[in-house]
Amino acid sequence: MEFVKTAKIQIHPNNDDIQLLLNSMRAYSDACTFVSEYIFTTKDLNQVSVQKHTYNKLRDEYKLPSQMACNVVRTVIGSYKTNKTNGMNWIFCKYNAPQMTLSWNRDYSINKDKFSVGTLNGRIKCNYDIKGMEQYFDKSTYSFGTAKVVYKHDKFFLHISVKMNISELSDANVTNVVGHDRGIRFLVSSYGSNGKTAFYSGNIVKQKRGHYKALRKQLQQVGTPSSRKRIKAIGQRENRWIQDINHCISKALVESNPKGTLHVLEDLSGIRTATEAVKVHDRYVMVSWSYYDLEQKLMYKALEHGQKVIKVDPRYTSQTCPKCGHVEACNRDKVNHIFYCKNCGYKSNDDRIGAMNLYRKGIEYLVESQSSISEL
Ligand SMILES: [Zn+2]
Repeated sequence: MEFVKTAKIQIHPNNDDIQLLLNSMRAYSDACTFVSEYIFTTKDLNQVSVQKHTYNKLRDEYKLPSQMACNVVRTVIGSYKTNKTNGMNWIFCKYNAPQMTLSWNRDYSINKDKFSVGTLNGRIKCNYDIKGMEQYFDKSTYSFGTAKVVYKHDKFFLHISVKMNISELSDANVTNVVGHDRGIRFLVSSYGSNGKTAFYSGNIVKQKRGHYKALRKQLQQVGTPSSRKRIKAIGQRENRWIQDINHCISKALVESNPKGTLHVLEDLSGIRTATEAVKVHDRYVMVSWSYYDLEQKLMYKALEHGQKVIKVDPRYTSQTCPKCGHVEACNRDKVNHIFYCKNCGYKSNDDRIGAMNLYRKGIEYLVESQSSISEL
């Protein structure tokens, strides 16, 4: 199974090379703005066609090497497509900050000592912070993809996409099943083979979200360009903060379970699509985005730990009795957080019901997968 993640490191070009690198990055972002002008007016998002109309100028005027010219086109098409999937209007994408996207082995390479990159005036090699990168040099498991050089606060950073190739845990080798229900009151409620329930409280997140929301509202009322800039910065800080939380939760979920664990999540892709049309700043987009982020983090951490993740149909998971399977909306008393089965009388805290049902769906999935193996 293939999985892609992004490694972020700081690079340290020496004084002579700083200008070379910066000049190339400026040329790259200027070239992006040029291609963006073409795309903005023509609405052309086809790689071949955009390349055909812009390539000569990218080579002659911006002096970009051939590979980099193609990367520029790819970068800009990517920005417009991202805006489109986020439900944003057709707006002009500007590239003010110096940046550069690089193809592995053509524009850049990296080994345990140096990061090597092609500039418009020859190749340079620089030191970088290897911490956290060591594992990716294991070629049997990882391979490098495109990388992006970013310049921020007088520092250079490299975002490298790393492809991970690990054979996924097979269903026949699953020895433990855990269901994880995601929510607002508890970020995650888990129920597993050992019959135990674990909760990851959502209180801090709820409070802090409220704090960010109030701050945004105040700034919106001010309505100046600088307040709009602050709103954007706050949004980015909030995103990073959610990513940190998701990192911690997924780590805890993976490390508190043995090798051979099957994690069962609700498949919320339907919900994601339903909210895509909603405005970008809408809370629901935020929530679905953070679910998706958690899912991704859990998936790759599970892979690295000999575990796996499946997603199941989310319908009725909070209304179904985990003991007798009876489905009824009024089984659940949302106000008092009590689940009471109208059929068999089973009673429990309602926050664990979703997780118990996901656990049950995980067991059903395994039974089905076993019987399809024995039929072969
Ligand atoms: Zn029941």
